[in-house]
Amino acid sequence: MGNGRIGVYPGTFDPLTNGHMDIINRATRVVDCLVIGVAVNAGKEPMFSLTERVEMVREQVALMRNGDGSRIEVRPFTNLLVHFADEVEASVILRGLRAVSDFEYEFQMAAMNARLNSRVETVFLMASENHQFIASRFVKDVALFGGDIATFVPPLVKQRTLRRLQELNETS
Ligand code: ADP
Repeated sequence: MGNGRIGVYPGTFDPLTNGHMDIINRATRVVDCLVIGVAVNAGKEPMFSLTERVEMVREQVALMRNGDGSRIEVRPFTNLLVHFADEVEASVILRGLRAVSDFEYEFQMAAMNARLNSRVETVFLMASENHQFIASRFVKDVALFGGDIATFVPPLVKQRTLRRLQELNETS
């Protein structure tokens, strides 16, 4: 993927939130090329399939106004993150940090990944003030109970989430 420093931003993105988009925007200032790795994460029983999540992220990246879209690639991955990072020749893994509660998990994961692959460095971007509290799992809960998720996710993601809930309602 071109020259320069390549970074991977991995996540489940179930669904993609404004918090994720903020990290994506800022990550493009830290690396020359950004690969957004959408994890299969079957253990989390995602609301959206891997294909849908990749589509959702691609759709939003295509809408980015500052032309950064050309330096961003969105890819699914089903293998170990550090192997995926090698595959795309990334030297940096980017993660977002929200509250203190994220810290322990992220710290352990970064340490494990450093052991597994010493060529790749984990870099944390602090969540910005207005996105601190946004988490995909709360977005799903709010939507499930009829709350408005418009301030947490991009409009197309809201549409997809409402459609999915309707489908789930129809089949239950
Ligand atoms: P994962 O299953 O890897 O935790 P997520 O999609 O929940 O996947 O999150 C992907 C990354 O984005 C993580 O580094 C997470 O800390 C970060 N992130 C999630 N929500 C926000 C937010 N509101 N602000 C900043 N970073 C966030």
